[in-house]
Amino acid sequence: MKKGVKFILFVVLIVLAGFGMNNLANKSSVYKSSSKPSLKPTVKPPSKLAFNTKLYSHTDPTSIWVMVNKKNPLNPIDYAPSDLVVPNVPLRVPGNQTMQMRRIAADALQAMFLAAKADTINLMLASGYRSYSYQTTLYNFYVKTQGQAVADTQSARPGYSEHQTGLAADVEPVSRTCEVALCFALTPEGKWLASNSYRYGFIIRYPQNGQAITGYEYEPWHIRYIGVAAATAMHNQGVLTLEQFFNYPAAPSY
Ligand SMILES: [Zn+2]
Repeated sequence: MKKGVKFILFVVLIVLAGFGMNNLANKSSVYKSSSKPSLKPTVKPPSKLAFNTKLYSHTDPTSIWVMVNKKNPLNPIDYAPSDLVVPNVPLRVPGNQTMQMRRIAADALQAMFLAAKADTINLMLASGYRSYSYQTTLYNFYVKTQGQAVADTQSARPGYSEHQTGLAADVEPVSRTCEVALCFALTPEGKWLASNSYRYGFIIRYPQNGQAITGYEYEPWHIRYIGVAAATAMHNQGVLTLEQFFNYPAAPSY
């Protein structure tokens, strides 16, 4: 009996002690929270410049953020991606090497073309991956027919083409209206691409009024995959070129 009373007393004491500590904890939390409002004015809303543009490499040719322009060739210069696939989309030249893209970009292109189709916009892949040797042939053709100065504004030198990364594509309407031509920007397909490509991780890489920075005339058909997060940040910030977004100097010439 005596033992039982002691035990009950013991339990009561523990409960009381627990309550006391709990009460103290409440008091301290009240104290803490009452001191918080004074900190509030220093908490800033998330900055639109907070996007980390250094998350992935700009020099590794396998990086989705690799910077390729007239000042930054691929390294190695004859780099070839190891994960090329043919996207399941309408193709300009079925069976041709240029109908391939890196898997991550091909998947994004497929998703984008499906979404476009749902909006009654029918897109086709005109040209994707181009190997170093293919680009050599293409560039030499331009030089031969138009001279080097003109060739350099219309076709990249081998090793300097985004198409060699497997992350770039030239897009056109299935009808082939304004095929790889400026008027593509005025077609429903071109307008849809300009408005929606960022949602799938693509940017219009050579925009209007961007030649002094990119070194290329306006190419409303040429898109480059950089991932949805980066493309969306670039779109929301209203940044014109990838050079500006990644804080690279202008690359108007070789
Ligand atoms: Zn292109």
